[in-house]
Amino acid sequence: MRIYHFPWLAAVSLVLTSCGATNGTKRPRLRETVSYGEFSGEKLEEGKRSTTGTLKKSPSGFEVTGADGSHFLVRAARLGDRSDFVPDPGKEYRIDILTRIVSRPKAYTYIYDELAKVSDGERVIYDASLCPVHRVTMMRKPEGRATKDDYPRSFYRQREEKFPNDGISYLGCVEGGSDLRWSCPECYRLSERRAKELGIKE
Ligand SMILES: [Zn+2]
Repeated sequence: MRIYHFPWLAAVSLVLTSCGATNGTKRPRLRETVSYGEFSGEKLEEGKRSTTGTLKKSPSGFEVTGADGSHFLVRAARLGDRSDFVPDPGKEYRIDILTRIVSRPKAYTYIYDELAKVSDGERVIYDASLCPVHRVTMMRKPEGRATKDDYPRSFYRQREEKFPNDGISYLGCVEGGSDLRWSCPECYRLSERRAKELGIKE
């Protein structure tokens, strides 16, 4: 069964996980901020910020050292990416970061930073909004939900290869609310078609 959260920015939420998050009280200043839900008093926001600095690949993502002396880790969250993007650690780039803030007033604030775009002068050398399989621009959308066990293993193998950014989370059980994800229209179309061929009810 698939459950979608529409319209966009409906009350959706995220199952709190500390994976890859920084717990801190210092909120970065973001632009184009959207609040995309609230669940049990937990607030979810997402926005963008930019910095100039160096970028070094690390086992869990990339280390950013800003020209202002800031130093932090960002994750690379684009699915299906086999390009193995390796920036030159000695070069200064313009780095766009997608930041999600999960917070509960007076309790906690988790900040998740993802690499959105890297530019070397005028040249864009990394763009997380492009589907690596279809080379089309993806949108940030509240994820769709599907029951993991309804799909055979072959589906997941195909998904990894052919439609990784279908915008759907395949879950063992329906938990809390949902997160925002990159969603590629072409991946979504192929995923739907495959689900239909498999006779999976939606
Ligand atoms: Zn795609």
